[in-house]
Amino acid sequence: MPEECIFCQISHKTQAAEIVFERGNILVFKDIKPKAPVHLLIVPKKHVESIISLEAEDKEMVADIVYTAKEVAKQYGLKGYRLSFNVGREGGQIVDHLHMHLLGGWEKDSQVSE
Ligand code: AMP
Ligand code: ZN
Repeated sequence: MPEECIFCQISHKTQAAEIVFERGNILVFKDIKPKAPVHLLIVPKKHVESIISLEAEDKEMVADIVYTAKEVAKQYGLKGYRLSFNVGREGGQIVDHLHMHLLGGWEKDSQVSE
């Protein structure tokens, strides 16, 4: 793992984060600068830079990320939400460790546990 990678550090618990879900290779934690009432980041513990650098063998990991989003959104009581990947600098990616944003909680009646 690149030692300077902040999401690797969070995955290895050497850097603090508000972790809300963990299973196998997947970790979910709160975005430090939330852009929605619920803003979570779903990351593989394995260091993969971005969608651009995915290999065929990573397909299952991507499916795991998306399925985890569905499960965590349900836990949060979200009726609808937005999932997004920023891909590469030109796509707005700042942290070079693959992550999917989960944004939601705009509904009045969702159970947002902040
Ligand atoms: P991106 O533009 O897709 O690379 O977004 C990276 C996201 O990571 C941004 O929304 C940041 O607010 C978030 N972020 C950066 N450092 C941390 C951290 N230490 N803990 C939680 N979220 C972070
Ligand atoms: Zn990393």
